Amino acid sequence: MKLFVSLFCLSALLTGADAKRHRLVIWSIDGFAAGYLTNPQFQESAVWRRLLRRGKVFAPVETTIPSVTYPAHTAMVTGSETAAHQLYSNHPVDPFNLSKDGWTWYSEDIKTKPLWDIVREQGKSAANIMWPVTMLPAGRIRYHIPQFDRAKGPEELKMMRVLTTPGLHREIEIHARAALNEHVGDAERIRAGKYIWHKKKPDLMLLYNPGLDTIEHGNGAYSAPAFAHLDFLGRELEQFLRETEKHKSRERTAVLLVSDHGFMTFRGKCHPNAILKNMGYIEPAKQRWTYAFDTAGGVARLVPHGQAPDFKTREFSELLTQQCPDIEVITRDHEDFPRLRRGFDAKAKLFLVGRANVLMSAAWNKEVFLPDATGHTHGFLPDRPDMQTLAIAFTPDRKSPVKITRTKDTFRFACSWLKLRCPRGKN
Ligand SMILES: [Zn+2]
Repeated sequence: MKLFVSLFCLSALLTGADAKRHRLVIWSIDGFAAGYLTNPQFQESAVWRRLLRRGKVFAPVETTIPSVTYPAHTAMVTGSETAAHQLYSNHPVDPFNLSKDGWTWYSEDIKTKPLWDIVREQGKSAANIMWPVTMLPAGRIRYHIPQFDRAKGPEELKMMRVLTTPGLHREIEIHARAALNEHVGDAERIRAGKYIWHKKKPDLMLLYNPGLDTIEHGNGAYSAPAFAHLDFLGRELEQFLRETEKHKSRERTAVLLVSDHGFMTFRGKCHPNAILKNMGYIEPAKQRWTYAFDTAGGVARLVPHGQAPDFKTREFSELLTQQCPDIEVITRDHEDFPRLRRGFDAKAKLFLVGRANVLMSAAWNKEVFLPDATGHTHGFLPDRPDMQTLAIAFTPDRKSPVKITRTKDTFRFACSWLKLRCPRGKN
């Protein structure tokens, strides 16, 4: 009898906890490198010390091939590697710039099923605050503000009002003092997110903050402005966690802080497409191309186009080796070929990999190699320590339902926390 009673109590307790509504914020801080966790200056930040004690920290987290924003964020919402979701790069392969500096904004290019569709189909609601690759019909996400930009100024706001869930953009402008477009800061995005979270009460909210990445491209990671911005984001996050605690009698809210890549300083810039132009594969006079490299910093894949002839691998390799130091050609017989096929592009016949700190860029109308070019970026192989990132799960009991070792594990976390039936295996 005793056993029966305690089992009964246990099941009542479980039902009680279970009856609480589960909600989740996936909060992305772009460019939050794993290296911050061991950086002495970061370790002195009072707010981050409190946050790291409060959450379950995962580091290092290995990102996608390539370690760039759009493929990584797509992995987070699909649970699949780049080779499966096929959102290969931040930019389309577009040697003649027909897209006028377009990005790969459109979610129709994602070939595995994203969380927002799973959430909607299972009767739950999602909100999106400018998550990468979310140009999609507004009805697919209940509260939807896509990431998109074409220009600056007031015309841009009119465009955003058309792309957003009807009425929502204006509502956020009035109630959260945020006129959202690609050029607003993280503060406005967070204000919009908080407004939607409290007012609309979605089950899942995707919140994207690009501010740290912008600072790091300009000043480098671990720079004074980067630390200052991280402190600001930490205080905002802490405040948000406090707000969610007020509802803990009814809701179990998790905030999963994620990021997409680390950062490095490059020295020297290689333009492999300039070699393809010299070899006749890119013909500017005819606006025609049969091969182009899709470059992403430290990795590139060869993309054929139309009626492509056989690629002269040996000739290309010789030209590249003569001109670009530290860039390696990876073909079928190379030991890294299988993992590039598995992780990056299942069909590419040739990849390029930067082993040191030389950057690759897609331009074909520049010198093949610029030895003095320098700057701060990412996009190298994800197992390099400088490309590694992190994740922190803030749950009511400081436990994570899923171990996060790769950016794509974010998907599994969401499926588990929100009790979604998610595709297994290839997704
Ligand atoms: Zn990024």
